[in-house]
Amino acid sequence: MQSYSFMSLVRHALRGNTGWRPAWRDPQLKPSYDVVILGGGGHGLATAYYLAKNHGITNVAVLEKGWIGGGNSGRNTTVVRSDYMFSESAAMYDLALRLYEGAARDLNFNIMLSQRGYMTLIHSQHMLEAAQHKVNWLACNGIDSEIISRERVQRMVPLLNMSRNPVLGAFLQRRGGTIRHDAVVWGFARGASARGVDIVQNCEVLGFEKSGNRIAAIETSRGRVACGTVGMAVAGHSSVLADMAGFRLPVTSHCLQAMVSEPIRPVLDHMVMSPGTGVYINQTQKGELVMGSVLDLYHSYAQRGTFLTIEKTITSVVEMFPVFAQTRLMRHWSGIVDVVPDSSPILGPTPIDNLYINCGWGTGGFKAIPAGGTLLAHSLATGRPHPLAQRFGLDRFRSNRLVDEGAASGIAH
Ligand SMILES: Cc1cc2nc3c(=O)[nH]c(=O)nc-3n(C[C@H](O)[C@H](O)[C@H](O)COP(=O)(O)OP(=O)(O)OC[C@H]3O[C@@H](n4cnc5c(N)ncnc54)[C@H](O)[C@@H]3O)c2cc1C
Repeated sequence: MQSYSFMSLVRHALRGNTGWRPAWRDPQLKPSYDVVILGGGGHGLATAYYLAKNHGITNVAVLEKGWIGGGNSGRNTTVVRSDYMFSESAAMYDLALRLYEGAARDLNFNIMLSQRGYMTLIHSQHMLEAAQHKVNWLACNGIDSEIISRERVQRMVPLLNMSRNPVLGAFLQRRGGTIRHDAVVWGFARGASARGVDIVQNCEVLGFEKSGNRIAAIETSRGRVACGTVGMAVAGHSSVLADMAGFRLPVTSHCLQAMVSEPIRPVLDHMVMSPGTGVYINQTQKGELVMGSVLDLYHSYAQRGTFLTIEKTITSVVEMFPVFAQTRLMRHWSGIVDVVPDSSPILGPTPIDNLYINCGWGTGGFKAIPAGGTLLAHSLATGRPHPLAQRFGLDRFRSNRLVDEGAASGIAH
């Protein structure tokens, strides 16, 4: 792997930038692998990376039906934070945030982590009490957060309309912020490829060849591939592939939309979320306003949402920031997210002996990519769930021991 550094930038610039090699290899699919990972999103690629790095397993393929990051990992609004309620969730999401904090060095790739602070506005006395409760709860789990006053919010976000939806203050996680989503995908792909993992794009999984209760081989649009163990991280298509393998998942697929404005001068330093309007917004380094809100509430596999959601999002943004009415919307898009009843991921074993799963992140799995990869890699390498993944097994839907993070995940990502 060629190293990225200030000196290498200078050297390449002096040679007219003609000597850069591709960041990852473009290999042919081999007839068999020890581990095959389905889905070339952030979770699949991070799994491959940590399998190689933490467990020394490199005879691995990642199969992606389109291009890497072409699913939700390249379509999300890039918000990261770890303010989840239950101790199991807090431990997992904070592991992800800590791994993200070290990822640029670990991957030798600038993922553009910007810990600009994640702010949830407080609109009522009831929300204030709930936020105080949450801050205390997070402190018990070792997670930083605080409540800031109305005056502080006004100073930090001067363009915010404080009276339309009255703002009493805000919940703030300072370590929260944003990360460039493509960079996460490319960084993990580059790191995995350099360690010997084959990343095979335009390779759709079409079916499974079983031997007893194991997957012996995978049928793909590029031919058959035999496998030792299989990891599945296909987000909005999890129930489709589970159906192919012969079991059911409590997952439904929904469109989730996002949109960006034309670039404007820097006016918004923080990530702001309003439960009152259901909208969240931040400004990218390029100056675009990134906006998102609720799920489209019908099931769909179309990566295309409704105008109703766009209208609702824009109306709410203009209520919060009347001055943004002057900016133009540049583009909008949608991904297909995998929603489960308790808004917590499903990690670990499945009813098929050699198939392990990572799905159910719904609207909030980007922030969890390094943890999701670490935990799935552990299961694939050892056959056992990672201690941090114990509570997120598929079996919790039988025992009804759910980890209900609906309030923490919801629309807030
Ligand atoms: C608009 C939007 C905004 C979001 N905002 C945030 C946010 O701010 N913060 C946050 O934490 N999360 C956010 N999310 C959620 C987050 O993007 C996802 O939870 C996360 O990216 C899931 O990663 P993944 O690797 O599991 O899935 P994906 O990135 O979707 O990757 C799955 C891959 O599997 C591939 N695949 C599917 N079927 C097959 C097949 N048959 N064969 C081979 N490959 C297949 C797909 O092509 C896809 O590339 C958002 C999502 C959307 C859509």
